[in-house]
Amino acid sequence: MSTFQFPEGFLWGAATAAHQVEGNNTHSDWWAWEQAGRVKEPSGLACDHHRRFAEDFDLAASLGHTTHRCSIEWSRIEPAEGQWNDEALAHYVDVVRALRERHLEPIITLHHFTTPQWLVAKGGWTNPHVVDAFARYVQRVVEALADQVRYWITINEPMVYVRMHYIQGLGPPGARDFKQAIQVIEHLLRAHAVSYRIVHEKRRADQPAPAVSIAQYIPVFRPCRRWWPPDRWVASLSDRLFTGAVLDALTEGRWSVPGVATWKIPEARKTLDFLGVNFYGRQFLRAILTLRNWPAESCDLGHHPCEVTERTSMGWDVHPDSFFQALVRLRATGLPILVTENGTYMRDDARRWSFIERHLQAMANAMQEGAPVIGYCYWSLLDNFEWAEGFGPRFGLIEVDYATQERRVRESARRYAEACRTNRIALSPS
Ligand code: BGC
Repeated sequence: MSTFQFPEGFLWGAATAAHQVEGNNTHSDWWAWEQAGRVKEPSGLACDHHRRFAEDFDLAASLGHTTHRCSIEWSRIEPAEGQWNDEALAHYVDVVRALRERHLEPIITLHHFTTPQWLVAKGGWTNPHVVDAFARYVQRVVEALADQVRYWITINEPMVYVRMHYIQGLGPPGARDFKQAIQVIEHLLRAHAVSYRIVHEKRRADQPAPAVSIAQYIPVFRPCRRWWPPDRWVASLSDRLFTGAVLDALTEGRWSVPGVATWKIPEARKTLDFLGVNFYGRQFLRAILTLRNWPAESCDLGHHPCEVTERTSMGWDVHPDSFFQALVRLRATGLPILVTENGTYMRDDARRWSFIERHLQAMANAMQEGAPVIGYCYWSLLDNFEWAEGFGPRFGLIEVDYATQERRVRESARRYAEACRTNRIALSPS
């Protein structure tokens, strides 16, 4: 069996997002959505990570991690319009310091699905003013953290955010409106562009150049019924909308989806220093007739006995080869790639490790084919609040007992730690 040696300095770690772990994010739109009973269970105290971050980072460091991705909660920093909570900001300064003290390279996300309630009351991401509001928030955060943070993720999965909150109605504001969704895409891309500039302008001459990206969800879209042309059309249109158009906008300053719209966003041109990539599996789509919504819906994987051979405990497709293909495809961007999320919920922890191992092998194979991957973050460090699904799905390397807030390191975390410490992975014979 051969082994693959990762380049020196390769970043190994795990990711979290504020609302999913911190607890008591009472000013965020998700909190209000949860209180209105729109989810299986509310986030409540979540993992109490807001208080326990230091001990959680101790665990990450003890597992050989060298990086950690986490997000800043905008609604804590600006709980009401124009009211800035300095204590909340100071908290994140402490978080970043705690990471640095443990030699965990911080990767900081500025927006991970949650938005302050006051902004949502004014139309949220459909209101063009959101771009300026976001810029003001980013300005404060970057001023506080720029000297300690090199890697920035402006927006987590812009297209997943849009789909979940504005097409499927599964998160606040619960819209199911394709026209609004298109407006939101534009505003997210503009918000990214303005944040890119802010981070670069704040760079101090004695600091290494900052590296800014979005975390781009890269699914591999497949038609539900391969023989049915409308399904094939919807799969390729979705690929354009989710991946092609977004990457074109942030590299060339032009967003275009045939039959939908084309705009120029000159300020977004060349606003990626690297590419943050989130990968979970393939997405199977079928065409539906609809006037106001995206003309596609996901189909039950049960309809694919031939193509889907393995699923997570949430029923999601497991297909490491698609991860390989996605990474190889992204070589064409010419950007360094940082895997900002890849992970699974498996009831059987041995299957979690098998998932991780095969995805690391797929990543190593892609690197041998020239994909310039610079790091890997498993989703997630801790079991956490999985949005509309509540606390049921457990993605963590570390198990959380929500009744006592006790942490228990899973065996998969120990196996992953071996890869982190040795900077190597055994490749399976092909
Ligand atoms: C999101 C996370 C989420 C994970 C698993 C990603 O798309 O960034 O917030 O928990 O998927 O569903």
